[in-house]
Amino acid sequence: MSEITLKGVYKSFGKVAVLHDVDLDIRDGEFVVFVGPSGCGKSTLLRLIAGLDEPSAGDIAIDGRNVNKVPAADRGLAMVFQSYALYPHMSVRQNLAFGLENSKLPRAEIEERITEAARMLEIEPYLDRRPGQLSGGQRQRVAIGRAIVRRPVAFLLDEPLSNLDAELRVSTRAEIAALHERIQSTMIYVTHDQVEAMTLADRIVVLRAGRIEQVGTPLELYNTPTNRFVAGFIGAPHMNFLEGSVAGTANGKARIALGGGLAVEVSGSPATGDKVTIGVRPQHLRRATAGEPALNAMVTLVEELGSETVVHALADGQRLLAVLPGQQKHKPGDKIALGFDAGNLHSFDANGFRIRGTDCR
Ligand code: ADP
Ligand code: MG
Repeated sequence: MSEITLKGVYKSFGKVAVLHDVDLDIRDGEFVVFVGPSGCGKSTLLRLIAGLDEPSAGDIAIDGRNVNKVPAADRGLAMVFQSYALYPHMSVRQNLAFGLENSKLPRAEIEERITEAARMLEIEPYLDRRPGQLSGGQRQRVAIGRAIVRRPVAFLLDEPLSNLDAELRVSTRAEIAALHERIQSTMIYVTHDQVEAMTLADRIVVLRAGRIEQVGTPLELYNTPTNRFVAGFIGAPHMNFLEGSVAGTANGKARIALGGGLAVEVSGSPATGDKVTIGVRPQHLRRATAGEPALNAMVTLVEELGSETVVHALADGQRLLAVLPGQQKHKPGDKIALGFDAGNLHSFDANGFRIRGTDCR
């Protein structure tokens, strides 16, 4: 069992406040990903959980036991860093054994754990090599192996794939997912890459400037982002935002004119003149059929990717991106009418908070 609970956690370095009032419940066996832009406090939060730093305020508990004063070595957690942090003068086998020898585990038990981890990670052929004789991907597996042999109550991984090239990142990502499936341990994984977060996580924690913006499953964040930041951060290319304002209200609905005769209705109670942002993902735009409500735009750039066509366009002075399926003939200067399903629209108030209920007229 390994639930990890954070309550009212703050962290400052001198006068610099880095984390603000972080509350989080991580369930036993869950794969949780911390995601957010560089510098938002992801590593700091992970280090607090690991016990490598102390919170300035608040409580951290593992399985209901407060660990604020428990040293890192006694928390039963294992951490994997981007930098691998392997001992260069030791063989892979010695690297894997090192922490276990220090904890005075019997030799046979150490051997058994190394054999098991090496098999799981397919690094058996390299056990007698040194890290310098391995590729980046192999080194990262050894670093993960070193965590596995410790049989931790939870794994903490800080951007473990950032040093790998794009192709290897994708395959190693799949291996980490398979590993979690197999060992079912609690894992906390830090990344700035929202695709990694979406593909790996049971639940994603989106951080910005030291605060949690939203916690949810990948699809909860994608389908109902709680604010404009999350809406723009999750999904690639990022969501289009069209700035509008309330043209009129009636029956608890506000009408947002989007130019070209197109209007969108949102529920709630924004007042006439209030600013409202309408969001729509590039993949949710399509070539409009005749007569359907559409954004009338002018094409400014076309990217032909073969499997899809990315169209950059301007609608009423606002920049838009549409990802259209397949190969479509468009060129800069073309007029294009972009349709959408009203159910795929998002709307945000002047403070960036999601408005529930958006409809198209
Ligand atoms: P992330 O991992 O999300 O990129 P970090 O947690 O590393 O971000 O850092 C968050 C903020 O805290 C940054 O502004 C960073 O400069 C600051 N910070 C991190 N560690 C220290 C430290 N030991 N002393 C002072 N400031 C720090
Ligand atoms: Mg970091």
